[in-house]
Amino acid sequence: STLAYDVIIIGAGASGLFCALTAGKRGRRVLVIDHANKAGKKILMSGGGRCNFTNYDIEPKHYLSSNPHFCKSALSRYLNWDFIGMVSQYQIPYHEREHGQLFCDTSANDILQMLLTECRANQVTIQLKTTIQQIQALPDNTGFVLTVNQQANQQANQPANQKSSEQTLTCHSLVVATGGLSIPTMGATGFGYQVAQQFGHTIVPTSAGLVPFTFTDKIGDAIKSLSGVSFEVIAFNERISFRLPVLFTHRGLSGPAMLQLSNYWQVGEPIFINLFPSLDMAAFLAEQKKQHPKQLIRTVLNDHIGAATLPKKVMSTLQNLLWQDMAETELANIKDEKLAQLGEQLNAWRLTPSGTEGYRTAEVTRGGVATDKVSSKTMQSQLQPNLYFIGEVLDVTGWLGGYNFQWAWASGFVAGEVV
Ligand code: FAD
Repeated sequence: STLAYDVIIIGAGASGLFCALTAGKRGRRVLVIDHANKAGKKILMSGGGRCNFTNYDIEPKHYLSSNPHFCKSALSRYLNWDFIGMVSQYQIPYHEREHGQLFCDTSANDILQMLLTECRANQVTIQLKTTIQQIQALPDNTGFVLTVNQQANQQANQPANQKSSEQTLTCHSLVVATGGLSIPTMGATGFGYQVAQQFGHTIVPTSAGLVPFTFTDKIGDAIKSLSGVSFEVIAFNERISFRLPVLFTHRGLSGPAMLQLSNYWQVGEPIFINLFPSLDMAAFLAEQKKQHPKQLIRTVLNDHIGAATLPKKVMSTLQNLLWQDMAETELANIKDEKLAQLGEQLNAWRLTPSGTEGYRTAEVTRGGVATDKVSSKTMQSQLQPNLYFIGEVLDVTGWLGGYNFQWAWASGFVAGEVV
C-alpha cells in the first residue's frame, strides 16, 4: 500500500488510545493525532485525579442513547474484567468505592501511562499539537487524505511562518475519537460532529450531562445559604430515581444524586427530592397529630426528625420555604389535608432548576453522532466505508461511576479489532 498509515485516529483520549493499542497489537501502522499538547488530559483530571476507570457492575441500563441497545454489543465484547485484568497486569494499585466504582489508589496517571506504554510497545505514533484542516475520502473508498497543521515546539525568535507546518497524511481507516464538548479548557471541540456531518451522519442534539443544577430567585438563595451541606436523598423525576447524597453549593445543587439525575433532565422540567428517604412523612405527621396534638409542627419536625437525619440548618431553611405559615400552630389545629400535603412535599420536594452549570463543569456530553448509521459491532460508519466513531463523540452517555470510561475502552476495542 502507498498509504502512510493503516489507521489514523483523531483524538488521543481514552477511546482513541485504547483503539490505537488494540490495532497496534494486530500489527497495524497506527497514528494518533491530537490538537492538545498532551495525550489523555481528561483521564488525568478524572475521578478527582484518581480515575474511576470502570465499575464492577456494567450493564446497558447504565447508559443513555436514542438507541438503548446500541451499547450492548461492544460492552459484551470488552468487559470491565478485561480492563481490570490489564490494570492488574500493570500492578496498578486500585480500590473499590461505593456502588462498585474502581479508582486508582495513587493517581490517574497510572492509567494514562499504562495506555501510553501499550501504545509504544505496539509501535503506535502519537502526534500532538496537530490540527486537522481537511479530510477527504480517496476515490473508490480506498482510504482518506488528511491535511493537518502541526504546531512547532515553542522557540524564542522563531519567524511566524515556522511556527507550524502543513502535512498531508494518508490512511486506510479513519477513527474519530474526539470526545464530547465538556470542559472546553481541556481541548474539547465539536470537530467530531463536523466530520460526522461531512460524511452524512446526523447529530443527536447535545447537552451537558453529569452536571450540577443551578437555581435562581428564592430557592437559589436558600440553597446558597446551605452551601457545603450534604446528605442522602432520593432524587427523582418521572424517568428515574437515585438514592445518593445531594450537595448544596453556592451555585446550586450538586453531589452524585444531582449529577446522575442531570443525565435524565430536560430544560424546564422539575426535579424531585425525597428529603426523608426512609420515612413516609404524611403518615408520620398524621401519627404525631394523633399522639401529640398539642405539639407545634416546628417542634415535631426540628426536634424529632431534624436532629436525627437532616442537619438543623436544612430544617430551618426548609421551614422558611415550606411550612412557615404553620410553624407556630399546634398539630391539632392543622387540617389533616394540609398536614398530608406537607408530608408529601417533604418526600417529594419539587424544584425547577433554571439550568445546569453547562459544559464548563459537565463530566459528559449527552447526545452526539447518531448511532443509527453506525455499526454497533465495529463502530464503523454505514455511510462511509472505513470511517469509525468511538467513545463519547457517539450518542452514548454513561452514568457516573466509571461507566463512561468503560464505554471508551469497549468501543475503542471493538473498532481496534477491525480497523
Ligand atoms: P476524550 O477522553 O475527551 O478524548 C478526546 C480527545 O480528542 C482529547 O484528547 C482532545 O484533545 C482531542 N480532540 C478534540 N477535538 C479535537 C480536534 N479538533 N483535533 C484534534 N484532537 C481533538 N468518566 C469515568 O468513567 N470515570 C471518571 O472518573 C470520570 N471523571 C471525569 C472527570 C471530569 C472532570 C470529566 C470532564 C470527565 C470525567 N469522565 C469520567 C468522563 C470521561 O473522561 C470521558 O467520558 C472520556 O474521557 C471519553 O473518552 P473519549 O476518548 O471519547 O474522549
